[in-house]
Parts: sequence; C-alpha cells; structure tokens
Amino acid sequence: MEKPDPDPWEEPRKNLFSIHKLEYARGKRPDVDCILCGICRKDPEVPNLTVSETEHTVVSVNLYPYNPGHLIIFPKRHVLSYEELSDEEALEIHRGTGKAISILKKLWNVQGFNLGYNLGKNSGGSIPHIHQHIVPRFPNEAGFLDVLANSRIVIYEPYEMQKEWIRIWNEFSGS
Ligand SMILES: [Zn+2]
Repeated sequence: MEKPDPDPWEEPRKNLFSIHKLEYARGKRPDVDCILCGICRKDPEVPNLTVSETEHTVVSVNLYPYNPGHLIIFPKRHVLSYEELSDEEALEIHRGTGKAISILKKLWNVQGFNLGYNLGKNSGGSIPHIHQHIVPRFPNEAGFLDVLANSRIVIYEPYEMQKEWIRIWNEFSGS
C-alpha cells in the first residue's frame, strides 16, 4: 500500500472506495424491461454511464466491471442474438472496439484484452440485449475463466470512471 506504484491504473483505484456513492450508483436493478434500451432512451431509472454514441451503437462503462477500464459496446436496437446484428451495427461495434483498444494501449499501456459476448442463457450473461465486453487485462490478476465466470468484481466509482473515459474518448485521435 505504501510503496509508490508507477502503474497509472492504480490512480483510479485510490479514490475508488466510496462505497455509499457506489451503492447509490448501482442501486437496485432498475425496474425496466431492458437496462440497455433504458440507457439508449436516457431513462432516469437507469444509471447512465455512456461514454460515446454513434448512429447505431453506444459505448458505456460497465456498471459491474471485471477490471478498471472495462467497457461495453452495444447496438441501440434491442438485438438479442449475434446473427441479428446488422452490418452497420457490427461495423460500428468493430470501430468502437478498435478505438477503445487503441486508447487503452496508448494511454494506459494495457497489453492484454478479453473481448466478447455472453450469448444465451447458459453463457453467464445477465442482460439479454446483446453487448460486447472489452476487458483490459493486467499482470498478476485473475485468469480468463475467472473473468468469464464473473467470480470477481472490481470496485470503483463508476461515474468517476465514466468522466475519465468521456474526456479521453473525445480527446483521442489516431489509431
Ligand atoms: Zn434492449
């Protein structure tokens, strides 16, 4: 705890532990048909952690992150299965994913990622509206299976992370 850590990822962790704010942010699961559709229509019942949006997609901080920096990207349309994604949606998810990875690599020197969807009821996913996870990976943390199995959740203040992501996302250019 005392030794200074040059890892920039430690920065957000230092002011993470505002548990009350965190519980407020997460709250109870909002009583809406679909949380991601709620985000898209800016429903006040749903915590909004949007980082960026394009015509067909939204990039958002994950409310239940596996790691600091964990984002999700999803179509604005209520799509439930991968094969229903339109070409436009798939392309925008692809581009958003590329931008997120570029940012994480260049600004935070992240050297490993897990990308993916949890599809269907046996996958461990909890929100049927399709969404791609972008999970940065760090040395000496849990393995891929731990992440997939949702067995660890990192605590940070999601609105602080959102603010940081919005700033970086808007400033970042290049690939
Ligand atoms: Zn939906």
